[in-house]
Amino acid sequence: MVFLGTGCSNPTSERNLSATALRFMGQWMLFDCPEGTQRQMMKSNVSYMKVKYIFFSHFHADHFLGFPGLVATMSMHERDYPLHIFGPKGTEERIKRSLNLGLMRKDFEINVTELKRTGKIVSEEFFEVTAFPLKHEVPCLGYSFKENDKDGEFQRAKALKLLPEGPLWGKLQKGQAVKWRGKTIEPEQVMDYTKGKKGRKVSVVMDTLPSSSYYDYIEDSDVLVHESAFADKFEQRAKETKHSTARQAARVAVETNAKKLVLTHISPRHKKNSELENEARQEFADVVVAEDLMKMTL
Ligand SMILES: [Zn+2]
Ligand SMILES: [Zn+2]
Repeated sequence: MVFLGTGCSNPTSERNLSATALRFMGQWMLFDCPEGTQRQMMKSNVSYMKVKYIFFSHFHADHFLGFPGLVATMSMHERDYPLHIFGPKGTEERIKRSLNLGLMRKDFEINVTELKRTGKIVSEEFFEVTAFPLKHEVPCLGYSFKENDKDGEFQRAKALKLLPEGPLWGKLQKGQAVKWRGKTIEPEQVMDYTKGKKGRKVSVVMDTLPSSSYYDYIEDSDVLVHESAFADKFEQRAKETKHSTARQAARVAVETNAKKLVLTHISPRHKKNSELENEARQEFADVVVAEDLMKMTL
């Protein structure tokens, strides 16, 4: 993961606006795309040409104004494979309007999904993405990336002794018995079921009041990325503008059994990380305040 930007409201010399990139098996997905995001990508190892998905939390200016510029650059560099965009109510109109802002060519396919319901929205061979509602001033969504669980490990060497590589291997990996040259091969012959693995989970919760309404979706996250615009002393301000404090985000991490908490979407009022980090740490130990271009590997 790369924390491309970590601020809120307006960019500062220390923080670009919040966007998080996640790479899985060579593909990038982006959570929000505020102003300045493409330059942040260029300063890191995030390949803007390999971004397959963009998940928008909502359409406050500090979360999406970088989108038309990014598409212009993709077009200029002759991107030729589809880009998939997801977002809450209003997504279709906003994306359409923003694509008509500049005189740019769009030679590649852009698929836009305005989410009418939440739950599973992407289902790929090795992972899925779930969307869930947050509590902000405008329709706003959080997202969870979840790698598929592995039942066991496929023993390639054992399999090769029994049958050649091909589609039957996939069936065995899925736990189905197959027939090869008149013999039945059981999955147990090629799978080591003692080596099952739970898939990794990353949840990204942007602008919201802390609320148990989204706990179920983010339960057991390996990394919970949670907005924390403010420190305790601005708790009232957080409430009024429907945001979370660092301490509140930490409580969410505790309640949902997160392994690690990353705080982002930090107000320009906070010049130092220590205040937010210390307040959060009183509730939850494994917490870090994200810095621009910070990387994290799971
Ligand atoms: Zn925001
Ligand atoms: Zn907002």
